[in-house]
Amino acid sequence: MDSIDKAAQSLGDNWNAILHASVERYAKLRRLPTAQVLAIFETVDFPDIVKQQYGGGKQAQLMGVEYASSLLAATPVANIPDEVLQALINDSFAVYDARLTLEATKIKNLMIRSVVGRQSEAEFAASLLGAENAEYKRLIEAGQVVKADIMTQSQANALANDTLRKFSRTVSAEMAESAPEGQLWIWDGPIDDLTSQECLDLIAMGPSPKEAFGAAFTNGTHFGCRHDPQPYVGRARQNKEADARAQEKRNEG
Ligand SMILES: [Zn+2]
Repeated sequence: MDSIDKAAQSLGDNWNAILHASVERYAKLRRLPTAQVLAIFETVDFPDIVKQQYGGGKQAQLMGVEYASSLLAATPVANIPDEVLQALINDSFAVYDARLTLEATKIKNLMIRSVVGRQSEAEFAASLLGAENAEYKRLIEAGQVVKADIMTQSQANALANDTLRKFSRTVSAEMAESAPEGQLWIWDGPIDDLTSQECLDLIAMGPSPKEAFGAAFTNGTHFGCRHDPQPYVGRARQNKEADARAQEKRNEG
C-alpha cells in the first residue's frame, strides 16, 4: 500500500463510521413525532453536519496539500507556484466535495422516508448498510427492505483513491511543464490482483519520457486507476524506495 492507498482507506473507514452513526441518529429520531422530525430537517443543514463529522471535503483537501508538499519536497524537478497549486487543489477536490454533499443528502432523504414510513431501526439500517449482518440480510431477502443507493465503505475508499490519484497526476503533469529537458518518469502505484494489464505494462516500461505514457500520464489508464507518473530521480532514491517497500511488505506479513 502506498500513501494514497492508506489515506483512501482511512477515508473509507471514516465514511463507514458516518453510516453507522446515522443508524444511531435514526434510532433517536424515530421516537419523535413525524412533524417534529421534518421540522428538524427543515432547520439543520444535515449534509453540512455529515461533512463536518467526516472532516468534510476539508480533510481530503488538507491531505491533498500535505501530499502535494511531500511530493514537491521529494522532487527537485518541481517548481509549481503556490497559487497554481492552490487552484489545482480547489479544482481537484470540488467534485469530491459535491459527491459528499450528494451522498449525505441521500442519507437525509432515507431518514425522512423511514420516519414517515415508520421503519424500525433494523429496517433503516438494512436499507442503509445492506446485508451487513444476519438480521439485515433476512429483511432484504424477505423483500421487506430494499438497499438504498448510498455510497458504501468500499465505494468511499475508491472515490477517495480516485480523487487523490487524479490530483497527483495533475500535479505531475504540471511539474512536467517545468521539468528539465530529458526528465524521465516512472509509473507508480500498487501491483496486486486489481492492477490492470495496461498499468503492469507501463510499470514494466521503467523510467521513460513523458510522451511514452500517452494520455495515461494525466488521465490514468482507466476509471479507478490507482497509478500515476512520478519523476524518476535516479538510482539512489529508487533503491531507498525499494528498501522501504520491502520493509513495508515485511511489516504487512
Ligand atoms: Zn492503474
